[in-house]
Amino acid sequence: MSVDTTLSTGNETRDNMPATRTIFDPATDQPIAEAPIHTVEDLEKAVRAAKAAQSAWEGRGHDGRAELLNLAADAIEKSAEELAVLLSREQGKPLNGPNARFEVGACSAWLRVAAGTKLEPEVVVDDGETRAELHYRPIGVVGAIGPWNWPMLITVWQIAASLRMGNTVVVKPSEYTPLSVLALIEVINTALPKNVLHAVSGGRDVGARLAEHPAIGKVMFTGSTATGKAIIRSSADTVKRLTLELGGNDAGIVLPDSDPKAIAEGLFWGAFINTGQTCAALKRLYVHESQYEAVCTELTAVAQATPMGVGLDENNVLGPLQNRQQYDIVARLVEAAKASGARVLIGGNPDADAPGNFYPTTLVADIDNDNPLVAEEQFGPALPIIKYSTVDEAVARANALDVGLGASVWSSDPAAAREVASRIQAGTVWINSHGMVNPLIPFGGAKQSGYGLEFGVEGLKAVSVPQVING
Ligand code: NAD
Repeated sequence: MSVDTTLSTGNETRDNMPATRTIFDPATDQPIAEAPIHTVEDLEKAVRAAKAAQSAWEGRGHDGRAELLNLAADAIEKSAEELAVLLSREQGKPLNGPNARFEVGACSAWLRVAAGTKLEPEVVVDDGETRAELHYRPIGVVGAIGPWNWPMLITVWQIAASLRMGNTVVVKPSEYTPLSVLALIEVINTALPKNVLHAVSGGRDVGARLAEHPAIGKVMFTGSTATGKAIIRSSADTVKRLTLELGGNDAGIVLPDSDPKAIAEGLFWGAFINTGQTCAALKRLYVHESQYEAVCTELTAVAQATPMGVGLDENNVLGPLQNRQQYDIVARLVEAAKASGARVLIGGNPDADAPGNFYPTTLVADIDNDNPLVAEEQFGPALPIIKYSTVDEAVARANALDVGLGASVWSSDPAAAREVASRIQAGTVWINSHGMVNPLIPFGGAKQSGYGLEFGVEGLKAVSVPQVING
């Protein structure tokens, strides 16, 4: 595979070459490649082509589409290392650990599961007088707008189910990570018919047009809650279907009976996977006072032993922040914590002169629940650890925010943990882990973390129009 960023929409010719801009490596500040800046006119062309291609794609039937999605997964596997290197250079995540190679591997795994998942028509009533069947038809053209943290995998989450159900798709990658998504789609398109899957690599204007476009029947959006609200507004006139996977500020609650040493590694990766730049990462940790110091000590030991650095170095498993804006958010929140008198266990002291957007792994203890590092989404490598006295108090604090993507409960007693989990307002509550996703298990947010489910049979329903045949 060669990463040819001029093959921008996946299916275009080379006429009218788009303007480009340089993408820089967030670990070294060195230029990587030029990314096309597509325009709203490019989007219009892609949407027209996707609309024209939809009925033939639908006509291939479930088995025909599943076969091609499996071939697309094969193509990703053949190009896996090149894709992982590009992803590491553009996003910053290391090759090793739950990072670039893992993300590319998950792309083919998700495609295969979507290919193998069936959504059969249901007979709802059949009593001799009435026969009603519920079928699931494709919507038409789906728009997929993605973020920069897991750019390849989230694109696959958005497109796999959509394609599987007979929709054609137009993808709008984040302007921070276009190269990864364009390369991935180029590889997937080697297995698909022309014009079924497009990528238009523009800015916010292109995203905004996609969200209001009359020929787009559904938008799959993953990104911030603020942009999600803008998409709800701009999709209103065309009554578009939406799946919104938005921001989170996930709480973890360590119950009094847990074993700090046994859970430290799981807690650490729950918070610091992808260097904290993960929607459903553990972002505020509530620890019972009886275990507080032990959990702080064990977590600090794991943090000390976990190397951060340039992603192409095989030793590293934590990387830089993907962009300077996110670095500034993390730095501001840690400074607010320090100014309040909170105790920094490790980190909090970035080297301003070093290249790249590296912010050190940071753990902050003895912090008030209303500190900005607790109340706002940091989306980076800084975890606040808050002490609590009663489980009711911890649950109330976990539920106090207006977002609810994930949460976790940590305990040696799974039944006790499940009882606490049932009281938490979040789309997923994990027990003794955090943020583990699975292509068969539905995933989605509560409250302002969004609505609609991805993955599994529920994910297929979400990119279909239900139709009742009655009689
Ligand atoms: P963002 O909202 O800034 O951008 C996401 C995408 O929306 C980009 O492609 C951007 O160009 C596009 N966009 C911007 N304005 C638009 C508009 N008006 N109309 C249509 N599209 C528009 O998000 P980000 O900073 O890239 O991602 C980080 C955020 O995403 C965090 O809050 C994180 O929690 C969230 N996130 C959520 C999930 C989830 O599954 N719930 C997964 C990953 C990230």
